[in-house]
Amino acid sequence: MVKKKKNRAPLPELPPGARLFDSHCHLDMEDYSADCSEVIKRAARAGVSKIMTIGIDLPSSRAALRLTETHPGIFCAVGIHPHSAAAADDAALTEISQLARSVKVRAIGEIGLDYAKMYCPREEQITAFRQQLELAAELRLPVIIHDREAHEETMAILRQVAPLQQRGVMHCFSGDLTLAREVVDLGLYISLPGVLTFNKTEALREVAREIPLESLIIETDAPFLTPAPYRGKRNEPAYVLYTAQCLSEIRGITLAEAAAQTTLNCEKLFALEGK
Ligand SMILES: [Zn+2]
Ligand SMILES: [Zn+2]
Repeated sequence: MVKKKKNRAPLPELPPGARLFDSHCHLDMEDYSADCSEVIKRAARAGVSKIMTIGIDLPSSRAALRLTETHPGIFCAVGIHPHSAAAADDAALTEISQLARSVKVRAIGEIGLDYAKMYCPREEQITAFRQQLELAAELRLPVIIHDREAHEETMAILRQVAPLQQRGVMHCFSGDLTLAREVVDLGLYISLPGVLTFNKTEALREVAREIPLESLIIETDAPFLTPAPYRGKRNEPAYVLYTAQCLSEIRGITLAEAAAQTTLNCEKLFALEGK
């Protein structure tokens, strides 16, 4: 007999007044075309007061910015993901820099290197990454860095541009504690994804436990990387609560403390304090 689909378990409760910040998701993606406003409402009800929705190419950067215009708590990053690095020509970068003049654009991203999928040759990824790091420095915006199986090269490039770059985050962090310390030494934040809630993620849990809380933020990367207990289903910003809860358990602090500090860190990173 086929089991009846169970109703979704209620989210853990955030203490009154506590706020969360989802530092990274992709609300413009097709996954939300039918119910984006519901998804945003659910996030607000769960205590997620601010959300960064992130561009991956020119069309998604435009779409991300459009979304922010109708939702006060939503901000965005514009940029070209390493998968689309081939599209990062002069015209595209010029438009990215024009979009970035909007007050709702709080970062350049996501940019970086992805040697896991290698949809684009290394050289093109590196060029697009460097150009967008320079653009961010020019515009005095922080960067959202995507690094998959490219730790060494990503760090080498970041070290070269470090004097230019004032703020940034290594999103969906996938390295170990040694790498995390190097990232923090460059003045960057580490963003912990819902992967933290999975079993057998000891390296990431160690990062969550050992890196100073002042350098940690949290993200969903929705619609991807759904945390437990919804692993395998579509992710959404409300679920950043599970990652906050997991972080609080790992560090032996309250959920309210984990929420308050990661939210404050995000507000500093994206210059959104008091906004
Ligand atoms: Zn990414
Ligand atoms: Zn992403």
